[in-house]
Amino acid sequence: MQNVALEARLEDIFRLTEVQKRALKKLSLAFVRDLLHYAPARYISTSSLKSISSLASGEQVALEGQVKSLKAKKTWQKRLRITEAKIADASGEITAVWFHQPYISKMLTVGDFVRLEGKITDRKGKLFISNPLYEKIAQLSYHAKGAASLIAIYSTTRNLSSRWFQYRIAQIFEALDPTSLPDPVPDDILSRYHLPALGRALVALHFPKNEKEVMAAKKRLAFDEIFFIQLSRMDARLKLEEQSSLVIPYDKQDLAAFTKLLPFSLTKTQLGVLDTLLKDISKKTPMARLLEGDVGSGKTVLAAAISNQVTKAGFQTTYMAPTEILARQHFDNFCKLLGGTYTKIGLLASSEARVFPSKAYQGQSAHISKSQLFKWTLEGEIKILIGTHALLNEKIQFRNLAFIVVDEQHRFGVSQRKRLAGTKSRDHSFVPHFLSMTATPIPRTLALTVFGDLDLSVLDELPPGRMPIHTEVLIKPKTRSWDHIQKELEKGRQAFIICPRIDEGESEQKSVKKEYERISKEIFPQFKSAMLHGKMKPLEKEKTLEEFRKGTIHILIATSVVEVGIDIPNATIMIVEGADRFGLAQLHQLRGRIGRGTHQSYFYAVSDSASGTTVKRLRSLERAKNGFELAEYDLELRGPGELTGKNQWGLSDLAMEALKNIKMVEAARTEARALLEKDRTLSDYPQLKGVVEKLTNGLYHFE
Ligand code: ADP
Ligand code: MG
Repeated sequence: MQNVALEARLEDIFRLTEVQKRALKKLSLAFVRDLLHYAPARYISTSSLKSISSLASGEQVALEGQVKSLKAKKTWQKRLRITEAKIADASGEITAVWFHQPYISKMLTVGDFVRLEGKITDRKGKLFISNPLYEKIAQLSYHAKGAASLIAIYSTTRNLSSRWFQYRIAQIFEALDPTSLPDPVPDDILSRYHLPALGRALVALHFPKNEKEVMAAKKRLAFDEIFFIQLSRMDARLKLEEQSSLVIPYDKQDLAAFTKLLPFSLTKTQLGVLDTLLKDISKKTPMARLLEGDVGSGKTVLAAAISNQVTKAGFQTTYMAPTEILARQHFDNFCKLLGGTYTKIGLLASSEARVFPSKAYQGQSAHISKSQLFKWTLEGEIKILIGTHALLNEKIQFRNLAFIVVDEQHRFGVSQRKRLAGTKSRDHSFVPHFLSMTATPIPRTLALTVFGDLDLSVLDELPPGRMPIHTEVLIKPKTRSWDHIQKELEKGRQAFIICPRIDEGESEQKSVKKEYERISKEIFPQFKSAMLHGKMKPLEKEKTLEEFRKGTIHILIATSVVEVGIDIPNATIMIVEGADRFGLAQLHQLRGRIGRGTHQSYFYAVSDSASGTTVKRLRSLERAKNGFELAEYDLELRGPGELTGKNQWGLSDLAMEALKNIKMVEAARTEARALLEKDRTLSDYPQLKGVVEKLTNGLYHFE
């Protein structure tokens, strides 16, 4: 191979089989650049390789050798399927044994070179290595030439082995001088944070001499990713600030009139946040703000208060929610909160359109045609339009849209968010003020990164008068809390049972379908049970939820789909099966589905694992009452893998890992701002400019 460019397609420079192409696609590896940035899952040290003659029973070892013989057999007493291979190196020979993995005899061939990792056991004085991890190796790989003393092991798919990665990456490094790779990050930044040059980092990532090199390489690559995102967010923010929005006068009298209508008084925290928001929108500079707050912390009521001000100023509001259930809930809430003010409020979901108030029935909403809704929206008659992604319909045009609220915006696709941001009004080209609200508990570092273009407000206090939810962690309990559920049900309350899976499958985890069978037929045949899970049709889900809300269903057996805002004040008890399978923050969100009424509520987290760390982790639910705190624990205790929907943020595993380091995130942020302030268009940094443009077009941003 000669002159390979970073932008070259892997399928153009390598001869790949169809299955390999598919496997690469699955790993999102298309270009040389992607492959070079594909971080190994782990490393093994060549110095930890043992010669076969030196092995001793009980040791955990790695060894390399050649397959001398291979056979698959079945023991006739126990019908065990066994694969046996004799592996030899220059010093001796050992037998490797695999149980229940008959396919291994097909994956290996006599003559292959392999690396095995596993435990040495002794049977009747003879040594075996049993159930070892195995990996085919090339005789002559990059490290074999002495360049590296750690061997990179990649997470692989069935058709791409670690050996494939080692070999292909070595080939690329031979064809392209890594030290000559242009480095997008300015030198002064690299030296300030002691980061290695890009080429050096990439070589060290795949063929490191030692652990220290690996750490430095990972730090560099994670820094890049976070720095680039910060640049693109900051750039979006600055662009936004060049535009103008409609000015919404901060009218304290209107505000007082609104709060007087509420059946409660706003908390100090709510008033503080509201004040910030109203000041934001009273300026010409568009507001771009993220409001974080646990479920029930009173975000929606703030959105309503602002919409009320926008309406009073004569402009329109739109509010987009990620599901139809939520959109309807907000619509009902807004009608209740603002209904007395004769404001016309619309609802748009894919299944129907509604308007409030109905002409025929006072205090109610009425079904209308979508075209009627579009007409009233364009004419400015509808002041507040609430809906799902159906709001992105191209036929919708506003008369004078001044304010956009989005709930859980990361749950919308990139193009959906862009279309919403581009929503235009008929009469002018002002950019609407933008408020993003989320109850998704994410750590601060993640918020600072993915929502780097938004100012942050936090509602960290729940409204008063909420009874704390009684929380208990049950470790391998013999009995579930059926008695307790029965008591609650007999009092007329309702219950949630959450399972980690829909179907039983092969695992022993509790599944919605099986639990439903058991509960509805054996345990509580006298009550009405129903299932709710992601494989049900939207209408079916809707119907089930509606019946649960009405109280005709008493027990809802569900997957974590109920996590997303449903409000059923009469539900007072929740059992989460397999709680160790969930992140803490996610459990906290599930818990937020109960304790919404005036009755004492109970939350049981059942764990099938009794391991010390699991128990400790789950017990923190009994103490922490704030989801954001729990998200920090998740990150600290189990790493980014536990963060709710970790794949939805568009960050690599490396960058997610780096989020544990607040200093690094703050450094990336500071540098990004400083660089853009120095060179607004990045004209002196064409490479960075390119990266930022790509990110801005591909990832989420709002402008
Ligand atoms: P979020 O949108 O953050 O989940 P909501 O705004 O829906 O929270 O509020 C949850 C519930 O608490 C609603 O029934 C709301 O009317 C009520 N609520 C909001 N603020 C207060 C408050 N200050 N005092 C009492 N109840 C409140
Ligand atoms: Mg809400």
